[in-house]
Amino acid sequence: MAIDTVRRVWALDAPRLTVDCGILMLGTGGENDTIPSPAFLIEHDEGLMLFDTSLAGAGDPAAAYGDMAAAFQIEFPESYRLDRQIEALGYKTTDVRRIVLSHMHFDHTGGLDLFPHAQGFIGAGELRYARTPRTLDAPFFRAEDIEAAGRISWNEVPAGYDHDMFGDGSVVLLSLPGHTPGTLGLKLRLPDESTLVLTSDAAHKRASVDLTIGMPFDVDSLHKHSALQKLKLLGTQPGTTVWISHDPEDWESLRTGGAEITSAAELAAAG
Ligand SMILES: [Zn+2]
Repeated sequence: MAIDTVRRVWALDAPRLTVDCGILMLGTGGENDTIPSPAFLIEHDEGLMLFDTSLAGAGDPAAAYGDMAAAFQIEFPESYRLDRQIEALGYKTTDVRRIVLSHMHFDHTGGLDLFPHAQGFIGAGELRYARTPRTLDAPFFRAEDIEAAGRISWNEVPAGYDHDMFGDGSVVLLSLPGHTPGTLGLKLRLPDESTLVLTSDAAHKRASVDLTIGMPFDVDSLHKHSALQKLKLLGTQPGTTVWISHDPEDWESLRTGGAEITSAAELAAAG
């Protein structure tokens, strides 16, 4: 089958968290970074899909996260709720037929409860790990989100396998384990036939990819290193832009035209 493209992509308005940069990349620290927590909405001939669901607690983050809301200085206005944004684009939340979850950390799972009807795609082992994590990682998983995940019917993507979602090359789930056991990224073919790679948390900073350096909470540093090598290689393909999902500089430079992302090639040329 010939390679097709998605119809439209939006990087929805995203809440922000503030963390010490040492959490984002090994060998750094001592300065604060304010980072976006994105969700991407994608329209394909087969319907709408969502990549990640950002945070919970729009309008009142402390209601969802307690003391962690202040610790992470979470900024999440009510208008950024995913259902509000999806409706503002002229759709219903039930139009979102597929959810791809990069991993189960709380800053990616907060909107899962809005999409119990969707077909889910997740990395193999991710749900099991979220339910029984290492003690060190336990604060990254939120019980309410694990419960919401339990109401979704999931398809697991095995480690080492990249899944062509529609069989037309337009949406490919990238296996990028290491940050968590089942971390996934996404490769999109945009309408102008350029390619956009969304890293999710397989990388937190641009320098993580350039230097293949992980972060302190990666569950498997060797797999993480391979995932970073894979992202670095993908970035060498012509017409391809790699978007480090939490990197505030990527958020600024790749979203210059607003929420709708129209051309990765132009972005690559500009970058
Ligand atoms: Zn994250």
